[in-house]
Amino acid sequence: MALCGVASRRKCEEIITQGRVKVNGKTITELGTKVTGREEITVDGKKIQKEEKVYFVLNKPSGYVTTVSDEFNRPTVLDLIKDEDKKNRIFPVGRLDYDTQGIILLTNDGELANKLISPKSKIEKEYLARVDGVITDKAIAKLKYGVRLENYKTQPAKVELIEVDKKHETSLISITLTEGKNHEVKDMCKAVGFPVKHLTRIRFANINNDGLGRGVYRQLKIHEVKVLYNL
Ligand code: URA
Repeated sequence: MALCGVASRRKCEEIITQGRVKVNGKTITELGTKVTGREEITVDGKKIQKEEKVYFVLNKPSGYVTTVSDEFNRPTVLDLIKDEDKKNRIFPVGRLDYDTQGIILLTNDGELANKLISPKSKIEKEYLARVDGVITDKAIAKLKYGVRLENYKTQPAKVELIEVDKKHETSLISITLTEGKNHEVKDMCKAVGFPVKHLTRIRFANINNDGLGRGVYRQLKIHEVKVLYNL
């Protein structure tokens, strides 16, 4: 039932024990009842069907939250997706801050999403950060090595200086992280004395934003989904 998008596993168990599910016309209330997939299953009289799995990548503009709905009524990334593409109850994989731009995946595949956001997966996420100030080698070395933040020390990261804008006193760096703590890039850069002015995620594992305009999304190719599954 969860695979058909009825509800979460736990909620589905409740629905079964409440006697709302029929298999071939017969009410079942026992959890763990086995089916082959060929039966007609109804919930509250409505036939359910296995939900097709869909996978998208969106180049998120700033000014959108990466949730399905927002308590403050701010625009969400789902507002950028056509109705026909969200009939399968898709949700964003992980999060980007309201003002962060770039790559965010959306899917209805809970299994893959859980794997991708698990810290154990160590999936690479690459960011471009425009920071305030002319960054020093020492600050870059600290970012690479790991920065002590309030509650934890960041894992070693790949960090490269891309350019320094001496006139406006800013620097552009790329940071590749394998963990995904909230506000991690901003907190790291602030901690070494170079706060982030603009942040863009340019890669999530094998998926980058090549050719994808801001606010535009596309379906992932089968081979891209396979790579994500095999990470
Ligand atoms: N790190 C941040 O600070 N913000 C993001 O949105 C993503 C990573």
